[in-house]
Amino acid sequence: MWIGIDDTDSPAGMCTTYLGAVLVRRLAQAGLRVVGARLVRLNPNVIHKTRGNAAIAIEADGDPETVFALATACVEELAEFGDEKTNPGVAVASVRPPPDFYYAALRDYCTVDEAVGVLEAAGALYRGYKNRRGLIGATAAISSDFPDLTYELLAYRKRPAWGTHRQVDAASLFRAEERTYPHTWDTVDRENGVVVGVPHTPDPVLFGIRGESPAWVKEARSFVRSEEPACEQVYTTNQGTDAHLVPGSAATLREGRSYLVVGTVAEIAATGAGGHVTFLLKDCGVDLRCMAYEPTKGFRGVVRALVPGDVVAAAGSYKGGSLNLEKLGVARLADAVRIRPPVCPACGKRMTSAGTGKGYKCRVCGERSREPETEALERRIRPGWYEVPPTARRHLARPLVRGVPAWEENVLQHGRGCDASPTTSIK
Ligand code: ATP
Repeated sequence: MWIGIDDTDSPAGMCTTYLGAVLVRRLAQAGLRVVGARLVRLNPNVIHKTRGNAAIAIEADGDPETVFALATACVEELAEFGDEKTNPGVAVASVRPPPDFYYAALRDYCTVDEAVGVLEAAGALYRGYKNRRGLIGATAAISSDFPDLTYELLAYRKRPAWGTHRQVDAASLFRAEERTYPHTWDTVDRENGVVVGVPHTPDPVLFGIRGESPAWVKEARSFVRSEEPACEQVYTTNQGTDAHLVPGSAATLREGRSYLVVGTVAEIAATGAGGHVTFLLKDCGVDLRCMAYEPTKGFRGVVRALVPGDVVAAAGSYKGGSLNLEKLGVARLADAVRIRPPVCPACGKRMTSAGTGKGYKCRVCGERSREPETEALERRIRPGWYEVPPTARRHLARPLVRGVPAWEENVLQHGRGCDASPTTSIK
């Protein structure tokens, strides 16, 4: 059977994954066989989320009534009921519901009534607390389908330590990454010299290690020196898979969904207040503003290196009328040239424009020329994929170290790019 739980935490504490880890242990203590535990990330743009919009699903064998009683007791004991935004949901189904609801919750928006409809159709036992919103995540979790998956080992703190400074040796985390990369990733951000896998929020998580298999995350974990954890749980997860992305075109993007859009760079990037970098992408005549926020650090350099005419695929969430970049694929680079008045062949001074359509004139000796000087500029980037650094990566975003899925490569190579121009002139 499948057990789904969501919406148990608040900014002040708790974490649904911790509650899942506790429940896994209680199920085992009750003599039930736990087959697996999933950490299911859902639409990263939902406004109700506390942090990373995670729900959990546990697969177990046993009597559904017993399991439901254990799961609801766990939620009633541990969830942050005092916070008005905490609205837990618990669902237990003997038959896994079809994955449609999971995909809707991952890529779109759902309602509690829709979740209840799925649970009723599956004959599930379920309970929603307060406004019952957590039933959406709980239902999505038990309906989840992972055609691609990764793993995360989560270590949790002992209760007296909650809310205090975490004792995790940063050097040991860097060592863990060095020894196990590329089989694990995002424990630290080596380029920016920061630890990524240790949260700063007052929840029970001590640290997390992400990787391609349970064996590799455990191997990385063996290097980590820290305060003694209360328990550790390895979750199967859709993190790092790009499961939230769908192919999109600029004309039809919908707010709060995440896309991969191919288009032609229409404008050189501009750096705004706070260091946020933005450029305009044109997709068959429709403009799309793309944003690389300051926390994306060196990735902004890639964005600044684009010139009009480049054909690129932009991945990210569409929010407030712009696409917030997670990754960029460069399909074709335009030939960038600088066009300026020629140097006077007679006196060696640079000529100036003689007026629209009238060529150039030397203001010193009066010589005239029709042709400008054209200089090919060296491009600072190459075709290929570029990503934000680990410190700015979203949970669902697939790191390039895992490779690029065939569908994304296909979108990049065969995308429309219908506004492409082979040459662009830079002032
Ligand atoms: P937690 O650790 O408690 O899961 P979180 O950051 O994952 O924290 P939640 O507190 O679970 O966020 O809040 C997310 C809420 O949004 C949940 O009630 C969940 O059921 C709901 N939700 C998730 N995905 C969607 C969606 N696609 N449409 C509508 N509601 C959603």
